[in-house]
Amino acid sequence: MTSTTKTECPVCGPAATSAVGVCHEQPVVACTQCGLLFVGECQTVEDTEEFFRSEHVDSEELTAMHYVTFRKDSLEREAAVIQRLYPEGGRLLDVGTASGYFLREFADVSGWEPVGVEPSAVSTRFARQEFGLDVREGYLQEQQFAAESFDVVTSLDAFNCHREPNEDLAEIHRVLKPGGTFAIEIPGQSYRMLTGSGPLCRLLFGCSLRLNAGVNFYFYTTQALVTMAQRAGFVLQDAYPESTPVQGRLVSRLAKSAYFTATSLLYRLTGGRVHYAPKEYLIFRKPAAAKPAWQQAPAEPRAAA
Ligand SMILES: [Zn+2]
Repeated sequence: MTSTTKTECPVCGPAATSAVGVCHEQPVVACTQCGLLFVGECQTVEDTEEFFRSEHVDSEELTAMHYVTFRKDSLEREAAVIQRLYPEGGRLLDVGTASGYFLREFADVSGWEPVGVEPSAVSTRFARQEFGLDVREGYLQEQQFAAESFDVVTSLDAFNCHREPNEDLAEIHRVLKPGGTFAIEIPGQSYRMLTGSGPLCRLLFGCSLRLNAGVNFYFYTTQALVTMAQRAGFVLQDAYPESTPVQGRLVSRLAKSAYFTATSLLYRLTGGRVHYAPKEYLIFRKPAAAKPAWQQAPAEPRAAA
């Protein structure tokens, strides 16, 4: 029998929890302090990491379908946001690179130096061979990147797979230059609960909770993620609604597209307060370090000779 480990709320620490349900035979709980949903007990961090290295993605065809075909529209929009922020380019690190399609958007653009980190051996090989990218196989903290060595760090629909989210936010903060940008795409929690729980979920999928537990561990609200990022030293700059992967039959794709258009409009009109979009793209900044006092003081005017 594989050993399991108890998890705790990444916002509140060891607070009490209440049972919400079971998904993929794993208990989903809610923090009684902040309401965050997460998998309450799961396999060890080492076993999870091994799963993502060797099992989660088991073929290059799967990588191409799920992380290029289904995702390319979102990834192109997200790359364009970064390129507008940095017209001169910069050093970019994508954590959880998957197919590499996002980094490919930077590969041949003057001034950009894209680097990826990806635990899956299959996806790493795909990104290197298909797009000729510099992708390091493994996990962020294993890479030991130099402090303050990236202008931009991105995490696109990957962060809910991280078992140690606060430690990883701290590492992202460490490797970013002062004034640098951290851009993260997370699933929209209202959309996820709308389609992944309750009557609609039972009707569509025949189960009461569909959160892909065991691949996802924490089901962040915007508020929870922003709180954690602020504690790590980031400041929220901007936010955009994003779409679900474009897949399925034509009718289903058209319905999803109409839903995204409507929820995007609502999101933009309310400044993100009414958020039923499938995903959200949050742009954080690492504040530029305060200059030491001797740099801030105006220079003494020199006496005329
Ligand atoms: Zn909590």
